[in-house]
Amino acid sequence: MKKNLEKVFIFTIIFFGGILAYNTYSNYAFKHNPLPQSYIDAIGNKQSEVLRNMKKNYGFVYKFPLIVTNKIKGNLYGVTTYENGQIKVYLNKNVMKESFEYMVDEVIPHEYAHALLMYKGYLNENKKGHSARWENVCKNLGGKECRQYVNHEEIINGKLPF
Ligand SMILES: [Zn+2]
Repeated sequence: MKKNLEKVFIFTIIFFGGILAYNTYSNYAFKHNPLPQSYIDAIGNKQSEVLRNMKKNYGFVYKFPLIVTNKIKGNLYGVTTYENGQIKVYLNKNVMKESFEYMVDEVIPHEYAHALLMYKGYLNENKKGHSARWENVCKNLGGKECRQYVNHEEIINGKLPF
């Protein structure tokens, strides 16, 4: 009986040790390899959906560059930058693996709404950009939540500061 328990114990250690090693490895691989094609496709599909909504609700299509980067520090999901009239949307690759569905469904319309308002000349919106006007655009572009990320400033006038 004791021996059996010991075996179970050892098996458990090996099993969970294996899962941990696998997770560590797959996180490492995700971080150091180009984005998997399935991720690229999902992001591209969502961007097309947002653009269709833009066409439907605003009558025009403006495709802002949507860039996946590992240069964003901390757990910010996304950033929109405005520099010399150039508007770009960045998604944080470092937090993408754990929150991919949320990033696609919510963060893309969220950042795109910031980009669209910048494009329309609303550069100094109140609530760090999360105004009622912004929320309306975010929902029109297909966002469901359209809330500010907790304590996160993610509209940048200028280059990415990192
Ligand atoms: Zn925002």
